[in-house]
Amino acid sequence: MVKLKNLKILFITSEVAPFVKTGGLGDVSSALPQTLAELGHEVRLVVPKYGAVDERRFKIHEIVRLKDIPLHIGDEIELFSVRSSFLAGLKTKVQIYFFDNQKYFGSRKGLYQDIKTKKDYSDNDERYILFCKGIMEMIKKLGWTPDIIHCNDWQTGLIPAYIKTLYADLELLRNTKTVFTIHNLGFQGLFSKESFQKTGLPESVFTEISMNLGSKISFLKAGLLYSDVLTTVSEKYAEEIRSIDELAGSMKPILQKRKSELVGIVNGIDYNIWNPEIDMLITARYSPKDLEKKYENKSALLEFFKLNDNKDKPVIGTISRLTDQKGIDLIQEAIDKILELDLKYVILGQGDKKYHEFFEKVQKKYPEKFAISFGFDDELAHLIEAGADMYLMPSQFEPCGLTQLYSLKYGTVPIVRYTGGLADTVDKVNGKDYSGTGFVFKKYDSDEMLKEIKHALKMYENKTVWARIMKNGMAKDFSWHSSAKKYIELYKKILKED
Ligand code: ADP
Repeated sequence: MVKLKNLKILFITSEVAPFVKTGGLGDVSSALPQTLAELGHEVRLVVPKYGAVDERRFKIHEIVRLKDIPLHIGDEIELFSVRSSFLAGLKTKVQIYFFDNQKYFGSRKGLYQDIKTKKDYSDNDERYILFCKGIMEMIKKLGWTPDIIHCNDWQTGLIPAYIKTLYADLELLRNTKTVFTIHNLGFQGLFSKESFQKTGLPESVFTEISMNLGSKISFLKAGLLYSDVLTTVSEKYAEEIRSIDELAGSMKPILQKRKSELVGIVNGIDYNIWNPEIDMLITARYSPKDLEKKYENKSALLEFFKLNDNKDKPVIGTISRLTDQKGIDLIQEAIDKILELDLKYVILGQGDKKYHEFFEKVQKKYPEKFAISFGFDDELAHLIEAGADMYLMPSQFEPCGLTQLYSLKYGTVPIVRYTGGLADTVDKVNGKDYSGTGFVFKKYDSDEMLKEIKHALKMYENKTVWARIMKNGMAKDFSWHSSAKKYIELYKKILKED
């Protein structure tokens, strides 16, 4: 019988800040385990040791008994080792295991894609098969049995399938339950039929995880089918992926079938990192009590982008992957109309080539009003959150979204589309009593978006009203505590079952 008071949780993820991060998953994988630990549970993390992990900055130790473990991948034998470090928070120290294999992870700077060609690595199947199967072997040797194995996204999807099939007789995991969190249903880990042979999983799994008449398999689908419970990162997105065909796609039948086992728990944010009162990456720290200081960040931001400083003109910011999911096509469609307005607009992002080419042209056409920085730059992301007046995020779909939550905390009023986590976290400003925290449009349409930008600009003209809206957002609490407690309740619920 599992003791339910202090749980042992193994949290498996493909990225974790500050070691390696490409997006929200990295932030969540850092903050959630730390909060679970603060709540009294023992959490350990596992992440691949990519070449991008800075060995000099972080102390990463060898674990002698977890060195050079052999593993079959198809007909080949690969060796991997597990090394260890700590994710040091203010109140907790969470142990983190680095899954170390030079060929598949250590020799590469990119996580999922080659950083030069921007193309997915052609052996991503082998890389994450090795990771998942290797973790099963690691668990056998660890001498620490988790009550909960918490998997995240397609890169970890095979683990629940291994536990329920190839490793089903593993006595050690008899009482262990698996949770699978969908951070984005759009990334499905699709591979060819041949990839399946390398997993070593029984044929019965093949039919279960194959897609579209069997020509492809999906690692995500394995996670969806074989885990004990499913979660996703907001209630609205949970509802949307159960009901909207375009979002659920071919996963719809599973999501329908497991409807009652799919729980939406909204992400929180780490206020030790994203908080204008203590943020050392920005020019001037501020709180709702001294909002004037925010404008020092605005000046620094405009200077960074070489745009003329004029504090009275509103600045809109966006920090985003430049992909269709994020509504970049709406911005593209409306850009001339946006830049005809009395404002400046700055973007930090990287992604699809078509958008890089497009925004380069826009920058040339409107050098006084628009600027973009291509690439991944954490420090600049903080400065945009602090320096902009408004934050534009017109996503086509958004499982949770974190940057709108950062914006709220930094008094940078979000303009968002009503979808997924954006719908759950931004409250429409009410023109009568000025309650609400942001500007929200429903239809995926560039004119609708433009209307809300204009609406925001109108309100911005009245400084008292605007300060009120900023403060409404800054007063919101999206810390991890209440969401982490929901995960704990869920872990306990599944541990009590059967
Ligand atoms: P995603 O769908 O990309 O995970 P989220 O809003 O959930 O979107 O999280 C994005 C995270 O990645 C945030 O912490 C954001 O600041 C960061 N981010 C996104 N693009 C960049 C970039 N180009 N440079 C620095 N940070 C970025």
